[in-house]
Amino acid sequence: MIKTVRGFVSHFKPLFVAAILCVGLSGCSTNPATGQQQFTALMSPQQEAQVGANEHANIMKTYGTVGIPALESYVSKVGAGVAANTERGDVRYQFFVLDDPMVNAFALPGGYVYVTRGLLAQANSEAELAAVLGHEIGHVTGRHSAERYSRGVVTSIGAAVLSAALDSKAASQALGVGSDLFMKSYSREQESEADGLGLRYMTRAGYNPKGMPAFLTALEGNTALESRINGKGGGGPDWFSTHPLTANRIQDTLILSQNYSQSGTVERDSYLSMIDGMTYGDSEKHGFARGNVFYHPKLDFTFAAPQGFEIVNQPEQVIARDKKSGAAIILDAQSVPQAMDARTYMQQVWMKGEALPDMESIDVNGMEAATAGFTGTVGGRAAQIRIVAVKWSADTFFRFQFAIPQGAPAALTEDLKRTTYSLRRMSAQEKRDIHPYKLRIVTARAGDSIASLANGMPFNSYREERFRALNALMPGQGIEPGARYKVISDR
Ligand code: ZN
Repeated sequence: MIKTVRGFVSHFKPLFVAAILCVGLSGCSTNPATGQQQFTALMSPQQEAQVGANEHANIMKTYGTVGIPALESYVSKVGAGVAANTERGDVRYQFFVLDDPMVNAFALPGGYVYVTRGLLAQANSEAELAAVLGHEIGHVTGRHSAERYSRGVVTSIGAAVLSAALDSKAASQALGVGSDLFMKSYSREQESEADGLGLRYMTRAGYNPKGMPAFLTALEGNTALESRINGKGGGGPDWFSTHPLTANRIQDTLILSQNYSQSGTVERDSYLSMIDGMTYGDSEKHGFARGNVFYHPKLDFTFAAPQGFEIVNQPEQVIARDKKSGAAIILDAQSVPQAMDARTYMQQVWMKGEALPDMESIDVNGMEAATAGFTGTVGGRAAQIRIVAVKWSADTFFRFQFAIPQGAPAALTEDLKRTTYSLRRMSAQEKRDIHPYKLRIVTARAGDSIASLANGMPFNSYREERFRALNALMPGQGIEPGARYKVISDR
Protein backbone atom coordinates (compact mmCIF):
# COMPACT_ATOMS: atom_id res chain seq x y z
CA MET A 1 0.00 0.00 0.00
CA ILE A 2 1.14 3.49 -0.67
CA LYS A 3 1.21 4.59 2.90
CA THR A 4 3.14 7.80 2.75
CA VAL A 5 0.82 9.54 0.31
CA ARG A 6 -1.25 11.15 3.03
CA GLY A 7 1.93 12.30 4.69
CA PHE A 8 3.19 14.37 1.87
CA VAL A 9 -0.22 15.75 1.02
CA SER A 10 -0.43 17.32 4.42
CA HIS A 11 3.15 18.41 4.03
CA PHE A 12 2.28 20.35 0.91
CA LYS A 13 -0.92 21.93 2.13
CA PRO A 14 0.74 24.95 3.73
CA LEU A 15 2.56 25.55 0.47
CA PHE A 16 -0.74 25.61 -1.34
CA VAL A 17 -2.15 28.23 0.99
CA ALA A 18 0.96 30.33 0.54
CA ALA A 19 0.70 30.01 -3.19
CA ILE A 20 -2.88 31.24 -3.32
CA LEU A 21 -1.70 34.51 -1.84
CA CYS A 22 0.79 35.14 -4.58
CA VAL A 23 -1.28 34.37 -7.66
CA GLY A 24 -0.30 36.73 -10.39
CA LEU A 25 3.10 37.34 -8.88
CA SER A 26 5.42 34.42 -8.75
CA GLY A 27 2.53 31.95 -8.53
CA CYS A 28 1.99 31.61 -12.21
CA SER A 29 4.39 30.59 -14.90
CA THR A 30 4.03 29.97 -18.60
CA ASN A 31 4.15 26.29 -19.38
CA PRO A 32 6.48 25.67 -22.32
CA ALA A 33 4.42 22.69 -23.51
CA THR A 34 0.96 24.19 -23.44
CA GLY A 35 1.77 27.90 -23.64
CA GLN A 36 -0.72 28.39 -20.80
CA GLN A 37 -0.30 30.44 -17.69
CA GLN A 38 -0.08 27.92 -14.92
CA PHE A 39 -0.41 27.90 -11.22
CA THR A 40 2.61 25.88 -10.17
CA ALA A 41 4.79 27.87 -7.86
CA LEU A 42 3.63 25.42 -5.24
CA MET A 43 6.06 22.86 -6.54
CA SER A 44 9.45 23.65 -7.91
CA PRO A 45 10.97 21.21 -10.40
CA GLN A 46 13.22 20.10 -7.52
CA GLN A 47 10.20 19.40 -5.35
CA GLU A 48 8.57 17.52 -8.21
CA ALA A 49 11.65 15.33 -8.50
CA GLN A 50 11.64 14.74 -4.73
CA VAL A 51 7.95 13.82 -4.59
CA GLY A 52 8.40 11.53 -7.56
CA ALA A 53 11.39 9.80 -5.99
CA ASN A 54 9.55 9.19 -2.72
CA GLU A 55 6.45 7.81 -4.39
CA HIS A 56 8.50 5.75 -6.79
CA ALA A 57 10.05 3.84 -3.92
CA ASN A 58 6.57 2.99 -2.64
CA ILE A 59 5.35 1.90 -6.04
CA MET A 60 8.36 -0.37 -6.49
CA LYS A 61 7.73 -1.91 -3.08
CA THR A 62 4.04 -2.47 -3.78
CA TYR A 63 4.15 -3.75 -7.36
CA GLY A 64 7.73 -4.21 -8.45
CA THR A 65 8.66 -4.39 -12.09
CA VAL A 66 7.71 -7.19 -14.42
CA GLY A 67 11.20 -8.72 -14.33
CA ILE A 68 11.66 -9.15 -18.09
CA PRO A 69 14.76 -7.08 -18.91
CA ALA A 70 14.27 -7.21 -22.70
CA LEU A 71 10.68 -5.96 -22.42
CA GLU A 72 11.58 -3.29 -19.87
CA SER A 73 14.41 -1.87 -21.95
CA TYR A 74 12.15 -1.95 -25.01
CA VAL A 75 9.52 0.17 -23.23
CA SER A 76 12.25 2.51 -21.98
CA LYS A 77 13.58 2.87 -25.51
CA VAL A 78 10.15 3.72 -26.95
CA GLY A 79 9.53 6.11 -24.04
CA ALA A 80 12.89 7.83 -24.43
CA GLY A 81 12.21 8.32 -28.15
CA VAL A 82 8.90 10.00 -27.40
CA ALA A 83 10.27 12.01 -24.45
CA ALA A 84 13.12 13.38 -26.57
CA ASN A 85 10.50 15.51 -28.30
CA THR A 86 9.06 17.41 -25.35
CA GLU A 87 9.48 21.03 -24.34
CA ARG A 88 10.76 20.22 -20.89
CA GLY A 89 14.38 19.22 -21.13
CA ASP A 90 14.77 19.72 -17.38
CA VAL A 91 12.83 16.55 -16.62
CA ARG A 92 14.66 13.24 -16.59
CA TYR A 93 12.13 10.67 -17.81
CA GLN A 94 12.22 7.11 -16.58
CA PHE A 95 9.90 4.32 -17.70
CA PHE A 96 8.82 1.27 -15.72
CA VAL A 97 6.72 -1.80 -16.50
CA LEU A 98 4.83 -2.74 -13.34
CA ASP A 99 3.99 -6.32 -12.45
CA ASP A 100 0.28 -5.55 -12.28
CA PRO A 101 -2.47 -7.24 -14.30
CA MET A 102 -4.72 -4.17 -14.28
CA VAL A 103 -4.73 -2.07 -17.45
CA ASN A 104 -3.15 1.12 -16.19
CA ALA A 105 -0.56 3.80 -16.87
CA PHE A 106 0.32 6.84 -14.85
CA ALA A 107 2.99 9.45 -14.33
CA LEU A 108 4.44 11.05 -11.24
CA PRO A 109 5.90 14.52 -10.98
CA GLY A 110 9.59 14.37 -11.77
CA GLY A 111 9.25 12.28 -14.93
CA TYR A 112 8.42 8.82 -13.57
CA VAL A 113 6.18 7.07 -16.09
CA TYR A 114 4.59 3.66 -15.47
CA VAL A 115 2.72 1.17 -17.61
CA THR A 116 1.41 -2.14 -16.31
CA ARG A 117 1.84 -5.47 -18.05
CA GLY A 118 -1.98 -5.49 -18.17
CA LEU A 119 -1.79 -2.44 -20.40
CA LEU A 120 0.94 -3.92 -22.57
CA ALA A 121 -1.28 -6.98 -23.10
CA GLN A 122 -4.07 -4.77 -24.34
CA ALA A 123 -2.01 -2.69 -26.81
CA ASN A 124 -1.52 -4.00 -30.34
CA SER A 125 1.44 -2.06 -31.69
CA GLU A 126 4.44 0.04 -30.77
CA ALA A 127 2.56 3.12 -32.02
CA GLU A 128 -0.18 2.42 -29.45
CA LEU A 129 2.43 2.06 -26.70
CA ALA A 130 4.04 5.32 -27.86
CA ALA A 131 0.60 6.98 -27.67
CA VAL A 132 0.12 5.88 -24.05
CA LEU A 133 3.62 7.00 -23.07
CA GLY A 134 3.15 10.27 -24.97
CA HIS A 135 -0.12 10.89 -23.15
CA GLU A 136 1.50 10.26 -19.76
CA ILE A 137 4.48 12.44 -20.68
CA GLY A 138 1.87 15.07 -21.62
CA HIS A 139 0.58 14.97 -18.06
CA VAL A 140 4.13 15.63 -16.86
CA THR A 141 4.95 18.42 -19.32
CA GLY A 142 1.47 19.88 -18.84
CA ARG A 143 2.34 19.67 -15.13
CA HIS A 144 -1.03 18.09 -14.44
CA SER A 145 0.49 15.61 -12.03
CA ALA A 146 2.30 18.39 -10.22
CA GLU A 147 -0.88 20.43 -10.05
CA ARG A 148 -2.80 17.48 -8.70
CA TYR A 149 -0.19 16.71 -6.09
CA SER A 150 0.00 20.33 -5.10
CA ARG A 151 -3.72 20.42 -4.55
CA GLY A 152 -3.66 17.44 -2.28
CA VAL A 153 -6.13 15.34 -4.23
CA VAL A 154 -4.11 12.18 -4.00
CA THR A 155 -5.75 9.30 -2.22
CA SER A 156 -4.00 6.18 -1.14
CA ILE A 157 -4.34 2.94 -3.01
CA GLY A 158 -6.64 0.26 -1.69
CA ALA A 159 -6.55 1.64 1.85
CA ALA A 160 -6.30 -1.62 3.67
CA VAL A 161 -9.72 -2.83 4.35
CA LEU A 162 -10.03 -4.22 7.83
CA SER A 163 -6.49 -4.71 8.95
CA ALA A 164 -5.70 -1.47 10.69
CA ALA A 165 -9.38 -0.94 11.08
CA LEU A 166 -10.31 -3.80 13.29
CA ASP A 167 -8.36 -2.17 16.04
CA SER A 168 -11.29 0.18 16.35
CA LYS A 169 -13.80 -2.41 15.19
CA ALA A 170 -15.50 0.32 13.21
CA ALA A 171 -13.10 -0.40 10.46
CA SER A 172 -15.15 -3.23 9.16
CA GLN A 173 -17.19 -0.45 7.59
CA ALA A 174 -14.56 -0.28 4.98
CA LEU A 175 -15.47 -3.72 3.68
CA GLY A 176 -17.25 -3.55 0.38
CA VAL A 177 -15.77 -0.21 -0.47
CA GLY A 178 -13.23 -1.83 -2.76
CA SER A 179 -9.97 -0.26 -3.74
CA ASP A 180 -9.52 3.43 -3.67
CA LEU A 181 -8.05 4.98 -6.72
CA PHE A 182 -4.39 5.60 -6.73
CA MET A 183 -5.01 9.15 -7.70
CA LYS A 184 -8.16 11.02 -8.35
CA SER A 185 -8.88 11.34 -12.02
CA TYR A 186 -7.58 14.13 -14.18
CA SER A 187 -10.06 16.65 -15.46
CA ARG A 188 -11.53 16.40 -18.94
CA GLU A 189 -9.48 19.39 -20.04
CA GLN A 190 -6.28 17.82 -18.75
CA GLU A 191 -7.12 14.58 -20.54
CA SER A 192 -7.62 16.25 -23.88
CA GLU A 193 -4.53 18.39 -23.35
CA ALA A 194 -2.49 15.25 -22.60
CA ASP A 195 -3.93 13.57 -25.71
CA GLY A 196 -2.91 16.55 -27.82
CA LEU A 197 0.59 16.71 -26.35
CA GLY A 198 0.96 12.94 -26.64
CA LEU A 199 0.07 13.06 -30.33
CA ARG A 200 2.61 15.83 -30.85
CA TYR A 201 5.41 13.91 -29.12
CA MET A 202 4.69 10.48 -30.63
CA THR A 203 4.50 11.81 -34.19
CA ARG A 204 7.70 13.80 -33.76
CA ALA A 205 9.25 10.49 -32.70
CA GLY A 206 8.13 9.00 -36.02
CA TYR A 207 5.01 7.05 -34.99
CA ASN A 208 1.73 6.91 -36.81
CA PRO A 209 -0.79 9.13 -34.97
CA LYS A 210 -3.56 6.55 -35.49
CA GLY A 211 -1.96 4.65 -32.62
CA MET A 212 -3.73 6.90 -30.16
CA PRO A 213 -7.37 6.47 -31.25
CA ALA A 214 -6.56 2.79 -31.91
CA PHE A 215 -5.44 2.26 -28.32
CA LEU A 216 -8.42 4.12 -26.89
CA THR A 217 -10.71 1.98 -29.04
CA ALA A 218 -9.01 -1.22 -27.85
CA LEU A 219 -9.33 -0.08 -24.27
CA GLU A 220 -12.97 0.81 -24.67
CA GLY A 221 -13.69 -2.64 -26.10
CA ASN A 222 -11.89 -4.31 -23.22
CA THR A 223 -13.63 -2.21 -20.59
CA ALA A 224 -17.04 -2.90 -22.13
CA LEU A 225 -16.37 -6.63 -22.03
CA GLU A 226 -15.08 -6.52 -18.47
CA SER A 227 -18.21 -4.84 -17.24
CA ARG A 228 -20.30 -7.39 -19.15
CA ILE A 229 -18.42 -10.21 -17.45
CA ASN A 230 -18.04 -8.82 -13.95
CA GLY A 231 -20.86 -6.41 -13.63
CA LYS A 232 -19.36 -3.06 -12.83
CA GLY A 233 -15.84 -2.67 -11.55
CA GLY A 234 -12.96 -5.11 -11.35
CA GLY A 235 -10.43 -5.52 -8.62
CA GLY A 236 -8.54 -2.27 -8.62
CA PRO A 237 -7.69 1.00 -10.24
CA ASP A 238 -7.45 1.06 -14.00
CA TRP A 239 -6.61 3.60 -16.62
CA PHE A 240 -10.13 4.84 -17.14
CA SER A 241 -10.53 5.52 -13.46
CA THR A 242 -7.70 8.04 -13.57
CA HIS A 243 -7.95 9.05 -17.22
CA PRO A 244 -11.67 9.40 -17.93
CA LEU A 245 -12.79 8.47 -21.41
CA THR A 246 -15.24 11.08 -22.49
CA ALA A 247 -17.55 10.03 -25.26
CA ASN A 248 -15.61 12.23 -27.65
CA ARG A 249 -12.08 11.23 -26.84
CA ILE A 250 -11.70 8.59 -29.54
CA GLN A 251 -13.34 10.86 -32.10
CA ASP A 252 -11.31 13.88 -30.98
CA THR A 253 -7.98 12.09 -31.27
CA LEU A 254 -9.02 10.71 -34.68
CA ILE A 255 -9.67 14.25 -35.90
CA LEU A 256 -6.52 15.65 -34.27
CA SER A 257 -4.43 12.89 -35.82
CA GLN A 258 -5.35 14.22 -39.30
CA ASN A 259 -3.00 17.15 -38.59
CA TYR A 260 0.00 14.84 -38.61
CA SER A 261 1.79 12.78 -41.22
CA GLN A 262 0.10 9.42 -41.71
CA SER A 263 3.30 7.77 -42.86
CA GLY A 264 4.75 7.17 -39.40
CA THR A 265 5.51 3.66 -38.23
CA VAL A 266 3.03 1.31 -36.52
CA GLU A 267 5.26 -1.70 -35.71
CA ARG A 268 2.60 -4.28 -34.95
CA ASP A 269 4.62 -7.46 -35.44
CA SER A 270 7.71 -6.40 -33.53
CA TYR A 271 5.51 -5.21 -30.68
CA LEU A 272 3.66 -8.52 -30.50
CA SER A 273 6.99 -10.37 -30.44
CA MET A 274 8.07 -8.32 -27.41
CA ILE A 275 5.00 -9.27 -25.34
CA ASP A 276 4.91 -12.94 -26.44
CA GLY A 277 5.17 -15.14 -23.34
CA MET A 278 4.40 -12.40 -20.84
CA THR A 279 2.34 -13.39 -17.77
CA TYR A 280 -1.33 -12.52 -18.14
CA GLY A 281 -3.56 -11.92 -15.12
CA ASP A 282 -2.20 -12.46 -11.62
CA SER A 283 1.39 -13.67 -11.38
CA GLU A 284 3.34 -16.34 -9.52
CA LYS A 285 4.94 -13.62 -7.46
CA HIS A 286 1.63 -12.19 -6.25
CA GLY A 287 -0.49 -15.34 -6.35
CA PHE A 288 -3.59 -16.00 -8.42
CA ALA A 289 -7.09 -17.42 -8.24
CA ARG A 290 -8.46 -20.38 -10.15
CA GLY A 291 -12.20 -20.32 -9.59
CA ASN A 292 -12.75 -20.03 -5.84
CA VAL A 293 -9.29 -21.32 -4.90
CA PHE A 294 -6.33 -19.00 -4.38
CA TYR A 295 -2.75 -20.18 -4.98
CA HIS A 296 0.44 -18.41 -4.02
CA PRO A 297 3.37 -20.49 -5.28
CA LYS A 298 5.98 -17.99 -4.13
CA LEU A 299 4.78 -17.87 -0.51
CA ASP A 300 3.68 -21.51 -0.79
CA PHE A 301 0.08 -21.38 0.38
CA THR A 302 -3.41 -21.99 -0.87
CA PHE A 303 -6.93 -21.54 0.50
CA ALA A 304 -10.42 -22.01 -0.84
CA ALA A 305 -13.17 -19.41 -0.55
CA PRO A 306 -16.76 -20.69 -0.55
CA GLN A 307 -18.32 -21.34 -3.98
CA GLY A 308 -19.59 -18.17 -5.60
CA PHE A 309 -17.14 -15.86 -3.86
CA GLU A 310 -15.15 -13.58 -6.11
CA ILE A 311 -11.44 -13.41 -5.26
CA VAL A 312 -9.65 -10.10 -5.64
CA ASN A 313 -5.89 -10.21 -5.25
CA GLN A 314 -4.33 -7.01 -3.97
CA PRO A 315 -0.66 -6.34 -3.33
CA GLU A 316 -0.83 -6.87 0.43
CA GLN A 317 -3.98 -8.89 0.94
CA VAL A 318 -6.41 -11.25 -0.73
CA ILE A 319 -10.07 -10.35 -0.57
CA ALA A 320 -12.98 -12.67 -1.36
CA ARG A 321 -16.50 -11.33 -1.60
CA ASP A 322 -19.95 -12.76 -2.02
CA LYS A 323 -22.07 -10.22 -3.85
CA LYS A 324 -25.32 -11.92 -2.87
CA SER A 325 -24.90 -11.96 0.91
CA GLY A 326 -22.34 -9.15 1.23
CA ALA A 327 -20.03 -11.47 3.17
CA ALA A 328 -16.31 -10.87 2.80
CA ILE A 329 -13.01 -12.53 3.63
CA ILE A 330 -9.63 -10.85 3.95
CA LEU A 331 -6.41 -12.80 4.24
CA ASP A 332 -3.09 -11.15 4.93
CA ALA A 333 0.10 -11.86 6.87
CA GLN A 334 2.11 -10.13 9.55
CA SER A 335 5.64 -10.78 10.75
CA VAL A 336 6.48 -10.39 14.40
CA PRO A 337 9.89 -9.50 15.81
CA GLN A 338 9.97 -12.43 18.23
CA ALA A 339 8.37 -15.87 18.36
CA MET A 340 5.03 -16.03 20.22
CA ASP A 341 1.98 -18.24 20.34
CA ALA A 342 -1.19 -17.49 18.38
CA ARG A 343 -3.26 -16.37 21.38
CA THR A 344 -0.60 -13.92 22.53
CA TYR A 345 -0.25 -12.61 18.99
CA MET A 346 -3.99 -12.14 18.55
CA GLN A 347 -4.58 -10.44 21.87
CA GLN A 348 -1.40 -8.40 22.32
CA VAL A 349 -0.19 -7.59 18.81
CA TRP A 350 -3.13 -7.75 16.42
CA MET A 351 -5.91 -6.54 18.71
CA LYS A 352 -3.57 -4.41 20.86
CA GLY A 353 -4.79 -5.64 24.22
CA GLU A 354 -8.52 -5.50 23.49
CA ALA A 355 -10.60 -7.95 25.55
CA LEU A 356 -11.53 -11.03 23.52
CA PRO A 357 -13.73 -13.01 25.90
CA ASP A 358 -14.51 -15.83 23.47
CA MET A 359 -11.02 -16.31 22.07
CA GLU A 360 -10.23 -20.01 21.57
CA SER A 361 -7.30 -22.06 20.35
CA ILE A 362 -7.73 -24.16 17.22
CA ASP A 363 -5.54 -26.29 14.97
CA VAL A 364 -5.43 -25.50 11.24
CA ASN A 365 -3.80 -28.35 9.33
CA GLY A 366 -1.24 -28.89 12.08
CA MET A 367 -0.64 -25.17 12.62
CA GLU A 368 -1.36 -23.52 15.93
CA ALA A 369 -4.12 -20.91 15.62
CA ALA A 370 -6.48 -18.70 17.60
CA THR A 371 -9.91 -17.34 16.74
CA ALA A 372 -12.31 -14.80 18.20
CA GLY A 373 -15.61 -13.26 17.18
CA PHE A 374 -17.46 -10.04 17.87
CA THR A 375 -20.08 -7.86 16.27
CA GLY A 376 -19.33 -5.00 13.96
CA THR A 377 -20.80 -3.43 10.84
CA VAL A 378 -20.22 -3.92 7.14
CA GLY A 379 -21.42 -1.25 4.76
CA GLY A 380 -23.69 0.11 7.47
CA ARG A 381 -25.25 -3.28 8.22
CA ALA A 382 -24.70 -5.13 11.46
CA ALA A 383 -22.35 -8.03 10.91
CA GLN A 384 -20.67 -10.83 12.75
CA ILE A 385 -16.89 -10.45 12.52
CA ARG A 386 -14.62 -13.42 13.04
CA ILE A 387 -10.85 -13.22 13.08
CA VAL A 388 -8.37 -16.09 12.90
CA ALA A 389 -4.59 -15.94 13.41
CA VAL A 390 -2.63 -18.94 12.13
CA LYS A 391 0.99 -19.40 13.13
CA TRP A 392 2.47 -19.98 9.68
CA SER A 393 6.14 -19.92 10.70
CA ALA A 394 8.18 -18.93 13.74
CA ASP A 395 7.76 -15.23 13.04
CA THR A 396 4.79 -14.97 10.64
CA PHE A 397 1.04 -15.11 11.25
CA PHE A 398 -1.57 -15.52 8.54
CA ARG A 399 -4.73 -13.63 9.42
CA PHE A 400 -8.26 -14.21 8.27
CA GLN A 401 -10.95 -11.63 8.81
CA PHE A 402 -14.48 -12.77 8.04
CA ALA A 403 -17.47 -10.47 7.92
CA ILE A 404 -20.93 -12.03 7.80
CA PRO A 405 -23.72 -9.47 7.48
CA GLN A 406 -26.84 -9.98 9.53
CA GLY A 407 -29.41 -11.97 7.62
CA ALA A 408 -26.85 -13.95 5.61
CA PRO A 409 -27.80 -17.64 5.22
CA ALA A 410 -26.79 -19.75 8.22
CA ALA A 411 -24.92 -22.16 5.96
CA LEU A 412 -22.44 -19.37 5.26
CA THR A 413 -20.93 -19.68 8.72
CA GLU A 414 -20.09 -23.32 8.00
CA ASP A 415 -18.70 -22.39 4.57
CA LEU A 416 -16.39 -19.81 6.11
CA LYS A 417 -15.25 -22.29 8.73
CA ARG A 418 -14.23 -24.59 5.88
CA THR A 419 -12.28 -21.69 4.39
CA THR A 420 -10.32 -21.35 7.63
CA TYR A 421 -9.39 -25.04 7.55
CA SER A 422 -8.52 -24.94 3.83
CA LEU A 423 -5.40 -22.82 4.49
CA ARG A 424 -2.35 -25.00 3.87
CA ARG A 425 0.91 -25.29 1.96
CA MET A 426 0.69 -26.18 -1.75
CA SER A 427 1.31 -29.79 -2.70
CA ALA A 428 4.19 -30.75 -4.99
CA GLN A 429 1.69 -31.70 -7.67
CA GLU A 430 -0.12 -28.36 -7.41
CA LYS A 431 3.20 -26.57 -7.80
CA ARG A 432 3.91 -28.61 -10.92
CA ASP A 433 0.49 -28.25 -12.49
CA ILE A 434 -0.85 -24.83 -11.59
CA HIS A 435 0.71 -21.83 -13.28
CA PRO A 436 -0.28 -18.25 -14.08
CA TYR A 437 -1.69 -17.61 -17.54
CA LYS A 438 0.59 -16.53 -20.34
CA LEU A 439 -0.03 -14.34 -23.31
CA ARG A 440 1.03 -16.11 -26.51
CA ILE A 441 1.29 -14.84 -30.06
CA VAL A 442 0.01 -17.25 -32.71
CA THR A 443 -0.01 -16.99 -36.49
CA ALA A 444 -3.38 -17.78 -38.06
CA ARG A 445 -3.46 -20.54 -40.66
CA ALA A 446 -5.86 -20.99 -43.54
CA GLY A 447 -9.14 -22.24 -42.12
CA ASP A 448 -8.60 -20.70 -38.68
CA SER A 449 -11.52 -18.79 -37.24
CA ILE A 450 -12.07 -16.71 -34.12
CA ALA A 451 -13.65 -19.79 -32.57
CA SER A 452 -10.71 -22.06 -33.40
CA LEU A 453 -8.15 -19.60 -32.00
CA ALA A 454 -10.23 -18.73 -28.93
CA ASN A 455 -11.18 -22.29 -28.02
CA GLY A 456 -7.93 -23.15 -26.29
CA MET A 457 -8.11 -20.15 -23.96
CA PRO A 458 -8.53 -21.25 -20.31
CA PHE A 459 -11.84 -19.53 -19.61
CA ASN A 460 -15.24 -21.08 -19.05
CA SER A 461 -17.14 -18.30 -20.72
CA TYR A 462 -16.85 -15.42 -23.18
CA ARG A 463 -13.88 -17.01 -24.97
CA GLU A 464 -14.56 -15.47 -28.38
CA GLU A 465 -15.49 -12.13 -26.87
CA ARG A 466 -12.23 -12.11 -24.90
CA PHE A 467 -10.28 -12.98 -28.01
CA ARG A 468 -11.95 -10.15 -29.93
CA ALA A 469 -11.32 -7.61 -27.15
CA LEU A 470 -7.71 -8.72 -26.65
CA ASN A 471 -7.02 -8.27 -30.37
CA ALA A 472 -9.22 -5.20 -30.80
CA LEU A 473 -11.21 -6.81 -33.60
CA MET A 474 -14.04 -4.70 -34.94
CA PRO A 475 -17.55 -6.17 -35.11
CA GLY A 476 -17.68 -8.40 -38.16
CA GLN A 477 -13.90 -8.46 -38.54
CA GLY A 478 -12.59 -11.99 -39.04
CA ILE A 479 -9.25 -13.78 -38.99
CA GLU A 480 -6.68 -13.23 -41.73
CA PRO A 481 -4.47 -16.22 -42.49
CA GLY A 482 -0.84 -15.32 -41.90
CA ALA A 483 -1.62 -12.53 -39.44
CA ARG A 484 -0.51 -12.77 -35.81
CA TYR A 485 -2.92 -12.74 -32.87
CA LYS A 486 -2.78 -12.73 -29.09
CA VAL A 487 -4.23 -15.68 -27.18
CA ILE A 488 -4.21 -16.57 -23.49
CA SER A 489 -2.76 -19.92 -22.50
CA ASP A 490 -2.45 -21.79 -19.23
CA ARG A 491 0.98 -23.13 -20.06
ZN1 ZN B 1 -4.56 10.98 -18.77
